Order: sequence, then structure tokens, then C-alpha cells
Amino acid sequence: MQKSDCIIGVEHVSKFFGDKAVLNDVNLSVRKGEFVTILGPSGCGKTTLLRLIAGFQTASEGVITIAGKEITQTPPHKRPVNTVFQKYALFPHLNVFNNIAFGLKLKKLPAAVIEKKVKQALKMVGMTDYEDRDVDSLSGGQQQRVAIARAIVNEPEVLLLDEPLAALDLKMRKDMQMELKEMHKSLGITFIYVTHDQEEALTLSDTIVVMSEGKIQQIGTPIDIYNEPINSFVADFIGESNILNGLMIKDKSVSFAGHEFECVDEGFGEHTPVDVVIRPEDIYIFEPSEAAMLTGTVTSSIFKGVHYEMMVQTPEGFEFMVQDYHCFDAGQEVGLLVKPFDIHVMKKERVCNTFEGKMIDTTHVEFLGCTFECKEVSGIEPETPVRVEIGFGDVILEDNEEDGRLTGEVKFILYKGNHYHLTVFTDWDEDIFVDTNDVWDDGDRVGITIAPENIRIVQSNNKEGSDNK
Ligand code: ATP
Repeated sequence: MQKSDCIIGVEHVSKFFGDKAVLNDVNLSVRKGEFVTILGPSGCGKTTLLRLIAGFQTASEGVITIAGKEITQTPPHKRPVNTVFQKYALFPHLNVFNNIAFGLKLKKLPAAVIEKKVKQALKMVGMTDYEDRDVDSLSGGQQQRVAIARAIVNEPEVLLLDEPLAALDLKMRKDMQMELKEMHKSLGITFIYVTHDQEEALTLSDTIVVMSEGKIQQIGTPIDIYNEPINSFVADFIGESNILNGLMIKDKSVSFAGHEFECVDEGFGEHTPVDVVIRPEDIYIFEPSEAAMLTGTVTSSIFKGVHYEMMVQTPEGFEFMVQDYHCFDAGQEVGLLVKPFDIHVMKKERVCNTFEGKMIDTTHVEFLGCTFECKEVSGIEPETPVRVEIGFGDVILEDNEEDGRLTGEVKFILYKGNHYHLTVFTDWDEDIFVDTNDVWDDGDRVGITIAPENIRIVQSNNKEGSDNK
């Protein structure tokens, strides 16, 4: 993008509340006239990013620019942006006209100009005959239209929208999505839209910014994000996916679910652990035949309106979701096939948990704010900083928080075909990743235990022979 095309620039922006980083080195460049959606699960920092652009909060680090001018410290009313919130925040004592005219009256514009602008804005949102109505007498959708009119009447260069449709019912939300898209086209200004609804993001946007835990995971067009997710988080968050642990054997050859498959990916090296993502609509399902790459038994089959969604269990113990126009009933034996192009191979973000810690004595190590017993370590002095490595499958979660050495909350749950991969946000404010066959729910409070023999100590400078392998 040419510098002159960029309307909003976010450069190395971080935001801390206390010592918690809610945004961590965020970089984003928004083109003039673009419809950009910031998408991510609750708590990932998307509203905070929008509030920094609006000026309701100030970045702890980094720079924000609008049309090339730095505005990191500029107050909200001096920025050429307006915000539409989830809760309409209309003035209940004013009618529709006066709600929309409010900002213009503060600017002391002549009455005739105000009237013309308000009428134009009402026309834009399809509310021409409503100017005298009390806002209380309007439906949720109509109130949101008034809130949008109140924002666009100021002719901002950028309209910021924070989950504006979240309070509406499904039918109204769909209608409003189409209207917003039309409005974006006819106004010709930049929209930055925040949502946790992936379908909304795919429908509305020119560009989607996927966020998780204060970081941008991927920026791309809806088609790029859907077809080429950069990691298993994005693949899981956007649409339905089969996500499995795999091993890249060599270029164009990957093994997963107990079999070797041809793929199109190269450059991962040999025998490298990877994540494999296959969309359910990319798996062919048919009567058992020689063409099958995998065989299995259908365990459930649900009609989804256009296609059937079927779960297939393979003899190797892996489960696949398959979508097809033909129905195979529960209990039926089937064959499955995936084309090389539809096997998406992704670099794993990590292969085990790694923490900074320090030795207490030869059989105790401190990390995540607790002291853990470990296998005897020779040659590392007490107080020496060490790296602690723990396999995902070696972390044990307990129902009773008191039974754990440490406590935390289950945050993200990724089903990987034959087990769950969980992110647990510990009360020490660091994540621990867990592979388990047990079923946990998002938000469950857990105790966390690690057996001494599963705690691997590596001296921070990687000195040979001093760890407890
Ligand atoms: P949601 O969709 O639930 O609104 P979000 O992705 O928009 O989530 P934010 O509202 O940006 O997330 O919040 C990100 C994190 O920052 C959350 O953990 C939240 O509790 C925290 N946070 C937000 N504002 C403050 C504040 N003023 N003080 C302390 N923590 C805050």
C-alpha cells in the first residue's frame, strides 16, 4: 500500500492495564475506504484497539496515525472518527431528530444546515419518516440506525463500529449487515468494525484482522483467511475445521491419523511436527472402495439445510467431520479421500510448554510462581535461572482447584481428532497448554499438577550435561 493510501496506521502499539498486556506490539495499516473487521474471541483486545483508534484510551507504547498525522495523544473529539457502540447510547429525552442533530448543534451550525444534514443522514439509514419519534418507541434495529445516523452526520473520515449488531435478533442482524455494506459503499468512507462473529466478518469485510490474546494472528481477505489460515487458532476460529497433529515427513509428504498423505507443502524440513487442517467440505465420502485413503464408521449424521454433517471414526481412533450433499447414516462403513491441495499444513506455534524458572535445590524448581518437585538435577547451583519444559500431555488438570499445585481457567479448547488441546490461563497470568482426553468447558476452574519426572530442566545457557533429561 502506498503511504498516501493509508488512513489509519497502528505501529508497534501495546496497551497495559497494570502489568497485564492487553495489546502486544500490534501493527495495522488501513487503506482509505476499506471495510476492515477486527475479529477475535471475547477478551482478545479488539475493543481496546478500537478505543485507542477512537482516542477513548491511550496507547502505553507505539504510535497511531490518521492520514499520516500522529494522533496517539490527540483527544477523541479532535480526531476525524466517530464511533457506533453496541449499546446505542442514545439520549432518551430527545427525539430522533435531536439525537442526530446533537453534535451539530454543539458545533453551532446554522439551523438550516443542521436540518439538511440530519435529513440526509436519516435517508442514508432508511429512517426518513421517523424524525419526530421518541427513541424509546423504536425497535432495537431502528435505534441502532439512529445511532449510525448520529455518527455519519458528522461526516467522519473513519467510522468505528463496536459490535453494533450484537443486541439485535438474527433476522434483523442479517438485514442490517446488508444495509451496512450498502452504506459503506455509498458513503465511501473507511469502516473499522469489531465483532466476535466470524460469519459477520466474512460477509462484511474487505479485510479481516484476526486477533487472539492481544496479538494479531492474521490479516487478509475473507477468502485468504478461510482458505489459507495461518495457524490452528485461525483455522478453528473461522469456519469448521478438522485439525490434527501431523508430522511433515519431507517436502510434499505428511503423516497424520496413522497414514501418510501427499500434500503440496514444502519447506518445513524433515520429520517436523506440524498442524494439519482439513475443511469438512474438502473430504470426499463414499461407499468403501479402493479409492479410499481412510476408512471409518459414521457415528452421527445431521442434516444442516443444504448438506449433511457427518462424524466418521477411523479404526486408528481419529474422528473427522465431513460435509456432503449425500447422506451416510450412523453405523455405515465409509471410505474417505482428501486431495493434496486440500490438506493445509501449518507450522506449530510450539511443541511443548516452556517457562522461565530458577532452581531452588537439586530436586525443586520454581516457575509459574510455585515451587515444584522435579527429578534430581546435578551441576546446577540453587538460584540459577533455568528453562523448564513440560509436554502438553504431562499436565494434569484436577476438578478441585485445591488438588492442584497451581490454579487456572480453561480458555480455548481445540479438538484435534483424538484429543483436546486446551489453553489454561493460570492465576500466575501465563498460559499453560494441555493435551487431554477429558472433556472440559471454556471457563472451567481447574487445579494443575505436573509429576516430578515430567518436569524437564534445561540450564538457560543450554549447557550440555547439566539438565535432568
Ligand atoms: P469482548 O468481545 O468481550 O468485548 P474484547 O476482545 O473486545 O472482548 P477488550 O474489551 O479489548 O476485549 O478487553 C481485553 C482485555 O482487557 C480483557 O481481559 C479485559 O478484561 C481487559 N480490560 C479492558 N479494559 C480494561 C480496563 N479499563 N482495566 C483493566 N482491564 C481492562
